[in-house]
Amino acid sequence: MKIAIAGSGALGCGFGYHLQKSGEDVTLLDNWEQHIQVISENGLTITVNGVEDNQAMKICKPNEFNEEMDAIFVFTKSMGLKSMMKSIEHIIGKDTKIICLLNGLGHLQTLEAFVDKKNIIMGTTVWTAGIDAPGITHFDGQGPVELQNSVPEEKDGALQIVDILKKSGLYGVYSDNVNYTTWRKACVNGTMNALCALLDSNIEEVFATSTIDSMLSGIVTEFATLAKRQDDINLDVEETITYLKALAEKVGAHYPSMHQDLANKRPTEIDFLNGSVAEASKRLNLEAPYCQNITDLIHAKEDILGIKRATK
Ligand code: NAD
Repeated sequence: MKIAIAGSGALGCGFGYHLQKSGEDVTLLDNWEQHIQVISENGLTITVNGVEDNQAMKICKPNEFNEEMDAIFVFTKSMGLKSMMKSIEHIIGKDTKIICLLNGLGHLQTLEAFVDKKNIIMGTTVWTAGIDAPGITHFDGQGPVELQNSVPEEKDGALQIVDILKKSGLYGVYSDNVNYTTWRKACVNGTMNALCALLDSNIEEVFATSTIDSMLSGIVTEFATLAKRQDDINLDVEETITYLKALAEKVGAHYPSMHQDLANKRPTEIDFLNGSVAEASKRLNLEAPYCQNITDLIHAKEDILGIKRATK
């Protein structure tokens, strides 16, 4: 299968590497000059669960690539998705599948402006990844990758993607309710990422504070209320909080990506997490003061750090 990875940063390189190793024809697409140069000259150096490897991979900028693809995995940050879709329109054919595993909410609406809904496959992943230097990345975990076709009656395409993910060791699973998983994952990011970034602390420290129960209850209630009203998804607040606490205990003294974004003076994905909940709640006359305040505070911190704000 001809596959492009549109956004070949941390997670994109990890997926591209695994798919190519299992025999797929993969091209990495990105705009980051130094990263492109290092991978073109030296191959991609990647450490998967502690084991380092180096693999030659095709990589170029989206506007330098002209082949129609069978499948495209989008792996920008949330705020880069729209501009990436604009720059890859010319490699999307009438049957090209677009797979979106980004964190955050509202991506289906962005994709629908560019692709027929039957070809959009939404999902979540619990693989984690990072960039150590241009052309040098790490990729950790065991998966899975949960996927569902946006038009459930047309699920053959998604099943084919699940198969290639299984074959490549990325552990694809077809889900009948990926929307639920997406909301639940958004609760993880909307609590852990946002609070650790604001409090400049790791997950263990944040979850040991005296106010953690009221913060979790406030945020998760706002996510759950909107999930029900907007998407008819039932997120049980108590069960979600129990899940978040168990997860926090498991991951311990880890700094989530939003904390790292601020530390490295990069824009955050807050507008697609708590910001998205605050905005949609307002439209539907629902109260979301926690999400609104968190979004304002993260934006204030971006301003203080001189980070150029990403627009939705
Ligand atoms: P990243 O910043 O490492 O990679 C994004 C890449 O996209 C960058 O290399 C950037 O240059 C490129 N890019 C962005 N816009 C572009 C454009 N218009 N044209 C060309 N290139 C463009 O991000 P990441 O950590 O791989 O995360 C990607 C998504 O996956 C995010 O939504 C993130 O929240 C989610 N996610 C990440 C992890 C993780 O552990 N890294 C885990 C689960 C989910």
